[in-house]
Amino acid sequence: MTTTRPRLPSIPTKLLIDGDFVDARSAATFDSHDPATGEVLVAVAEAGAEDVDRAVAAARRAFEDGPWSRTLPADRERMLWRLAELVEAHADELALIESLDNGKPLPDALGDVAEAAATLRYYAGWATKITGRTVAMNRPGDWHAYTLRQPLGVVGQIVPWNFPLIMTSWKIGPALAAGNAVVLKPAEQTPLSALRLGELALEAGFPPGALNVIPGDGPVAGGSLAAHPDVDKIAFTGSTETGRLIVRAALGNFKKVSLELGGKSPNIVLADADLKEATGGAAVAIFSNQGEVCTAGSRLYVERAVFDEVVGGLAERAAAIRLGPGTEDGSQMGPLVSAEQLDRVSGLVARGVEQGATAVTGGRRRGEVGYFYEPTVLTGMSEDSVVVQQEIFGPVVVAIPFDRPEEIGRAVNNTDFGLAAGIWTRDVSRAHRIAAAVKAGTVYVNTYHTGDPGLPFGGYKQSGWGRELGEEGLDLYTEVKSVVVKL
Ligand code: NAD
Repeated sequence: MTTTRPRLPSIPTKLLIDGDFVDARSAATFDSHDPATGEVLVAVAEAGAEDVDRAVAAARRAFEDGPWSRTLPADRERMLWRLAELVEAHADELALIESLDNGKPLPDALGDVAEAAATLRYYAGWATKITGRTVAMNRPGDWHAYTLRQPLGVVGQIVPWNFPLIMTSWKIGPALAAGNAVVLKPAEQTPLSALRLGELALEAGFPPGALNVIPGDGPVAGGSLAAHPDVDKIAFTGSTETGRLIVRAALGNFKKVSLELGGKSPNIVLADADLKEATGGAAVAIFSNQGEVCTAGSRLYVERAVFDEVVGGLAERAAAIRLGPGTEDGSQMGPLVSAEQLDRVSGLVARGVEQGATAVTGGRRRGEVGYFYEPTVLTGMSEDSVVVQQEIFGPVVVAIPFDRPEEIGRAVNNTDFGLAAGIWTRDVSRAHRIAAAVKAGTVYVNTYHTGDPGLPFGGYKQSGWGRELGEEGLDLYTEVKSVVVKL
């Protein structure tokens, strides 16, 4: 495995506050690492609580006093569209930044860049289409009653490290389209693409304070943002555990909260499915992006008659996946994002094996350099085993046979999570029945991980609150005001 890597493109490494890149007040910095080697990529300014105050104050000024507050919907449309164009024009550079910082293969990172641009463009279109409605009053006399949809104000947004650029676009797209001012905190593992995106946003014409980007530690920068009394809303994507802390922190001023949290999504293969497609789909469901996907199909339920065939096929595919640094030609799976994540995945698999699971393939770290973990298929564990119940957030799938297709839709709901589900079958009626029975925000039939900026995304149960993307995504960033006029 080579340790030579392409150079990191030049990026801003300070905090973006009020239209300028500035040092943290404390002058503190932290290192961002290349997970393929563990080497330091670059040091980045680390926001403390007083920097959060500064960023929130800048966003408040932009929102209340302008020039951001005076932008027309069509101005916001143009700026978001221009930002999407700039993202595409810098696709290779952004993908390289993302691949080096997160570890994912370059072709995957290029796909992320395209999705981020598509999301920004989708919400550019919405900026001019956010409207209220008129309501007929059930009272004698003449009345004019209508609703206004208005921006919330200052919005804090906290994103994770698995899809840094995509998650940022999902957050800032609808918030800026609706006219909010944003303070975004990227994950400390992967702050680089958001900083470059912030720079591109200035080039796209967003005025000072409309978008502030403040890398920093979770509990310090993220915690201060979530608790801040002058923040009107906090949007969070990350672990369910941290989601609970966000809710508590938000209680101080009852700021609005939306949450995209963890998952343990079932992927169901019925015996009548196209098994080649289903097996390939099961691999995509769990091994894409190193398995570091909140919607990963991490519980594979296979009808018993075809269990051996599907699991055998999946294990073969897993063993054939080429692990390597994301920037190396031909790499199909990169390292996990950090040493901490490698420990977490290794530890959970070890506990699963102690509790009776067998690794049909994988089940261990690969090499000594970087944080690579082998694509892993586990069988033979009970439903209450830790690897069936807990999110692993790595390339690890548990395969479980079942006998009654008519009951499987409800059976897979035996989990605290409800983000996504997959169904593989040629029987249309069964597909729809199972889709209705599964408690999940997204259900894929004969496909997996196939989204669109127009499709709402979010979770049932402990997978979150609210829906991002689509028209529903705008609801997270607007207040509805009823105006009643006696004529
Ligand atoms: P995490 O919750 O530790 O971190 C996510 C973000 O929250 C980071 O920016 C981090 O700095 C910040 N943070 C950490 N502690 C905080 C605190 N006390 N207050 C405020 N902010 C804090 O999660 P992670 O381990 O970095 O990410 C992996 C998790 O995210 C997985 O569980 C995964 O399922 C989830 N995730 C969910 C989605 C989704 O859309 N539902 C998408 C990606 C990841």
